[in-house]
Amino acid sequence: MYKLRGHHIFCLLGYRGMGYSQEYVENMTRLHQTLRENPKIWIQLVKGPDQLCEKYPNSGEYHCQNENIHNRDAAILEKLGLKIGQIMQWKDIESLIRKSTVPTDIQIICESCSWRSYGICEEGVQDILEEKGLREIK
Ligand code: SF4
Repeated sequence: MYKLRGHHIFCLLGYRGMGYSQEYVENMTRLHQTLRENPKIWIQLVKGPDQLCEKYPNSGEYHCQNENIHNRDAAILEKLGLKIGQIMQWKDIESLIRKSTVPTDIQIICESCSWRSYGICEEGVQDILEEKGLREIK
């Protein structure tokens, strides 16, 4: 079972193999690929830093405990109707995204994120709406 904080649900949709360091990318690619290949994997929703944050590089500012990041977690969980501590399969999280999310939500919820302007997270939401699942990382 993997532990995920709220906003990383959306980050996984837009993930294209970019990240903060090689170690961070390898770890995220592993999780992304696992979920893509087996959407029945169990996920536990956690408060604050998760298994992706563990590989956030030591250099530079550590943002994983910033208030605005916690607020983003809470906003995404609320949008999906989820609560911290819940355990569910990734495929069921994708179903909830289909019921409650549109691509432009990224512009509002992730307003302060530096990755937002790439447009890949909106594309990722669209892929889920079209039942395509997570994109293959090439
Ligand atoms: S815009 Fe940033 S926080 Fe939002 S889903 Fe994309 S990478 Fe994650």
